[in-house]
Amino acid sequence: MRKYGAPYLLKRRAYGNSDSLSALSSFVPQEIYIGDQHLVCAVNIRTGSSWQLDYRDGQFVLVNLHLKIETKISFPFSPKYYGYICEDGFRPDSVVTLYGGAALGIFVYGDCSLVSRGKACHYCSIEPNRSRSTSFLPVISPAHVERSIEISLQMDEGSVTQVMLNGGNFPDLDRSFAYYVSIATAARKAVDKSGRSIPIHLIAFPPKDISLIDRLADIGVEVAFNSEIYDRSLFSKYCPGKAEDGGHDHIFSALEHAVKVLGPSRVFSIFVGGLEPISSLKNGLNHVASLGATPIINVFHNDPQTPLEAHPVSTPAEIASMGRLLQDVYREFKIKEPFYAGCGRNSIDAEAFTGLF
Ligand code: SF4
Repeated sequence: MRKYGAPYLLKRRAYGNSDSLSALSSFVPQEIYIGDQHLVCAVNIRTGSSWQLDYRDGQFVLVNLHLKIETKISFPFSPKYYGYICEDGFRPDSVVTLYGGAALGIFVYGDCSLVSRGKACHYCSIEPNRSRSTSFLPVISPAHVERSIEISLQMDEGSVTQVMLNGGNFPDLDRSFAYYVSIATAARKAVDKSGRSIPIHLIAFPPKDISLIDRLADIGVEVAFNSEIYDRSLFSKYCPGKAEDGGHDHIFSALEHAVKVLGPSRVFSIFVGGLEPISSLKNGLNHVASLGATPIINVFHNDPQTPLEAHPVSTPAEIASMGRLLQDVYREFKIKEPFYAGCGRNSIDAEAFTGLF
């Protein structure tokens, strides 16, 4: 990948780090577009992988050395607001990250109370990543959000199709949720100022007081409360903090309430595909869909310096099986739209929605 660099987008690590540590000092793509359909796929660098990114005769290609296959790829371009500095020194890119070439992502809180309690999710690399220096603000205020989205959308040349807000939990779950509501409100103001019709997606842990979800009603956002892993004992093992904070019962109650408040096509829940048997994943997808919410699968990647760094990842055939399950659920429950349309990186929801499995 010596050819890789400007004008293509370089990976930035607002949240975790999914690459082998030896890749941290290299120019790494954040994602690739595969083939003519521009399927978006995250790049997670592993030394010794049989998948390689190469450049031949003026064309970037993805090669599998064992299977002896190759396919043309391309990359998102770096947006104009990366590197832009306002007169007062404010940098929008200290707040926003462009994901999948289309989602304006804001990781609100680069820490998580579950980390300080020693109960972080086992696949999460927020702690090792943020302990290295990053160019992101540690806690982002509503004012930062409004300003950075406003500037980014002014400079955007039509590639942004959604705003995505997420981050770690603050210690008090009700105050944490209220903060995320204020962030979503700021994002709404900025999107409205742009005059564009861009959905705002908030990914958060539900408040203890479920009625606080009502505050989302008038903002105009979609919300995701993530189920993570449906098998209860694996959920408790890999997500000890979330299990302690109410676990599945709380998350499913929150999903049900959110569907009442926002409507069925505006509530989502992510599963980490690859950490449980496919049969329990299937039950989880069906359970969430039966509540009126839309399930999503993000495929597990074993990030370095996490408790699951040595956990095996799914094979292509296993990922295809998960995709077929999701596709079947989307058809059966007449799901209206995916969460990550045209920008999902480790997610397979848009591909399932369009019937590619
Ligand atoms: S809730 Fe879990 S995945 Fe999210 S930031 Fe905290 S530890 Fe990481």
